[in-house]
Amino acid sequence: MYATENDIEIKSRTQSKKVWKFSEILEDPHVKARWEKVRKYFFLRESTYDMTTRCNIRCEGCYYYEGEKQYSVDNRNPEAWRKLIRAEKERGITYVVLAGAEPSMVPQLCEACFQEIPLGAIATNGLKQIPESIGYKIHISVWGNDETSRRIRGAENMLNRQMDNYKGDPRAVFVYTFTRENIDEAQEVVQFLDKHGCKTTFNIFSTPTGYDGKLRHTENSLLHTRSTMTALMKKYPDSVWYSHYNVVAHTHRFSLHDLYSCSYPRMNVSKGIGLGRSFRQYRSDLTWNRDASCCVPDTDCSDCRHYAAGSAVVTARMFRHAANPRTFKAWLDYVDTYLAVWVVGYDKGKNLCDEPVAPPGF
Ligand code: SF4
Ligand code: SF4
Repeated sequence: MYATENDIEIKSRTQSKKVWKFSEILEDPHVKARWEKVRKYFFLRESTYDMTTRCNIRCEGCYYYEGEKQYSVDNRNPEAWRKLIRAEKERGITYVVLAGAEPSMVPQLCEACFQEIPLGAIATNGLKQIPESIGYKIHISVWGNDETSRRIRGAENMLNRQMDNYKGDPRAVFVYTFTRENIDEAQEVVQFLDKHGCKTTFNIFSTPTGYDGKLRHTENSLLHTRSTMTALMKKYPDSVWYSHYNVVAHTHRFSLHDLYSCSYPRMNVSKGIGLGRSFRQYRSDLTWNRDASCCVPDTDCSDCRHYAAGSAVVTARMFRHAANPRTFKAWLDYVDTYLAVWVVGYDKGKNLCDEPVAPPGF
């Protein structure tokens, strides 16, 4: 059995009574080295872009095909995209996430983006290879074994097809999304990916607004996911990119917004600072709407545990975590994992924390 939130919280409280100065926390040379390593990337400023409304499959529970964005009219002109991304660079964006629906359908547009801003990631189902000339991280979505993918995503032989396209590709990270239904299958899938030398990270199915289907998590399925993730992290320390704090943050009974208060414009009431000011989520017609802008629009905020959301929501909360060595190490592991998953050329370090730590205040 894995520790419940109550167990983790009690331990964290008893260990965090002293008031720590930041300089004292940095006296540990491992902490100092990791801090120096991650802070070099604080210049990253992201925005996300729906590259097309088209996708070559249809998955149950896809947030892209919820809400209005799916009805926008695709702009297929690479020059228009180039102009947009150049303007994005001018307003301070240094990192792009190319997503919904399926970016591999429009490689020429992805190429235009890469030529203007060379740091970024593409979220893909992995069924169509994205040209090697596009040097972004490639996040390949995995929703279970082949039988589950056939049922939920309507795609046959998915893992082998993804593998044919991305085995040995240093850009590739396989993102296993835990739903309520596929928790035990993660063992066989991660073993398969490890055997083929692939890197895996984890995601939690976060329900689109209005979805009440069988993929939605319960408190029990979150605890089951928690123990499975932890076992896989221990079994495959080199090929699974995750940390104990990632596990706690993403399988907590409270959503990421409840735990950390989401800073994307869609939920950020201040709207004047940080992500609330800089982040935009563009639709495939190159328009954007502040009130809908977050990395996973049309996801239910009260159920949001999405890995893409956590990257910005948790990493943005450095000061809260710098309260004592334990929470700061946990936060450093989270940021180190985030950078390894999202930034080409960043190497994941060994996790500093070898046990779960409660989010500050919980
Ligand atoms: S592959 Fe992605 S965009 Fe396409 S239907 Fe599935 S979840 Fe939606
Ligand atoms: S869905 Fe998640 S990332 Fe988007 S606004 Fe809500 S809490 Fe933030």
